[in-house]
Amino acid sequence: MAGLDPDDWSDLRRLGHRMVDDMIDHLRDRRETKLWRPMPAEIRSALRDAPLPREGRDPGALYDEFRTLVVPYANGNTHPGFMGWVHGGGTAIGMLAELLAAGLNSNLGGRDHAAIEIERRVIAWSAEMLGMPPESSGLLVTGSSAANMIAVLVASRAAVGTGVRTAGVAAGDGARLVAYAATTVHGCVARAMDITGFGTDALRRIGVDRDQRIDLDALQAAIGADRAAGAIPFLVVGSAGTVDCGAIDPLDALATIAARERLWFHVDGAFGALAAVSPTRGHLLAGIGRADSLAFDFHKWAQVPYDCGCVLVADPSLQAATFAQTLDYLRRAERGLAANAPWPCDLGPDLSRGFRALKVWMTLGTFGTDRLGEVVDACCDVASHLAARVRDTPRLELAAPVALNIVCFRPSDPAIDIDRLVADLHEEGLVAPSTTTIGGRRTIRAAIVNHRTERRDADLLIEGVLARL
Ligand SMILES: *Cc1c(COP(=O)(O)O)cnc(C)c1O
Repeated sequence: MAGLDPDDWSDLRRLGHRMVDDMIDHLRDRRETKLWRPMPAEIRSALRDAPLPREGRDPGALYDEFRTLVVPYANGNTHPGFMGWVHGGGTAIGMLAELLAAGLNSNLGGRDHAAIEIERRVIAWSAEMLGMPPESSGLLVTGSSAANMIAVLVASRAAVGTGVRTAGVAAGDGARLVAYAATTVHGCVARAMDITGFGTDALRRIGVDRDQRIDLDALQAAIGADRAAGAIPFLVVGSAGTVDCGAIDPLDALATIAARERLWFHVDGAFGALAAVSPTRGHLLAGIGRADSLAFDFHKWAQVPYDCGCVLVADPSLQAATFAQTLDYLRRAERGLAANAPWPCDLGPDLSRGFRALKVWMTLGTFGTDRLGEVVDACCDVASHLAARVRDTPRLELAAPVALNIVCFRPSDPAIDIDRLVADLHEEGLVAPSTTTIGGRRTIRAAIVNHRTERRDADLLIEGVLARL
């Protein structure tokens, strides 16, 4: 027996066709199936207790297990009623792109092959889409958590030089590098400060105004106080769409402050950056193109299947200066497969990398940015509709302004147990909002990020909540 390819390809081909047909049907009929259901104990233990396979089994039997043990108990974010956290809905063409990418099994760490050019193209398109300079460097990564972390590293190297790459962050005169973001910033930015060794205390949390946007006077005061105390301010992070309620920090004003104070300006636009392609909401992001770096996700509002985030850095020399190594075994050749420098592995922490770019390339190619912009608008329209329903319902109240696509609301009666109510909705399997805390009170949170979500799903959410009051 040679290798792992099948003796008879026709069985596998039939199985593959069946898988594709089944998954296309699954997506087509998603509204008709339950959004989510709790895993019964026997299903969970069938998955948890499965022994390490010593002998192989028929892939058809494994596929049957996938259909019965996995598909009915999936995350639910392909369902139109999914409004929890910030999850994209994915598309059938994105799914097929994953199949093609796995078939080629390309390694996008580097080397001279077409897939690298696709990723470079996707990065250039991203910069154009978001108004970043055309020469920006960038990388597709797992998500905005990784993208924000890469940006924190690049910003710190830009501030104190790349000497820390060899000497370590504790070197120097001991002065502390500090960064700024609103209290509403996503938790992964503090995590990035933690992982990179600067520490979460070095992320100064600045208060927000009534619209949940960073308070610029407080920011200015904090920078001054830190300087006076001998710290080294190096970074200010603005959010283009906060995770709680979708607020957009005043990006243009932040860019101006950052330029004046000689700070790196990073934008976390995980989902909100995609509003740039909306015909009616793009102006909300004014100033985003002035960012020194930008993190956003293709797997959220751009509907690319998980996982795919992106980091862009305006000055292309700085990302490479942060990550490139000149190890001998990675030396780039003039010709042959080892040519085509700089390689993506010079721009981030990973050496081996998959062909994430293909599903982005096929998604952008299939729909175009115009259609994706319409999806952004349609999601915002559903959010406006939901907010209007809340305003018209005496027993409900909005908990925050609706800037974009996120609606935070709650029953006026503070005695209602929000977490229980939302868990009940999840188990019913029609709609799935999540929860957050705003102004010290638990709140229902509906983030409309899925291209399949319609006004009637917002209506189902209102009805589901009212039925439980
Ligand atoms: C989702 C999100 C993140 C984290 O992105 P991942 O892709 O989940 O790693 C960061 N910031 C904001 C505003 C988000 O919505």
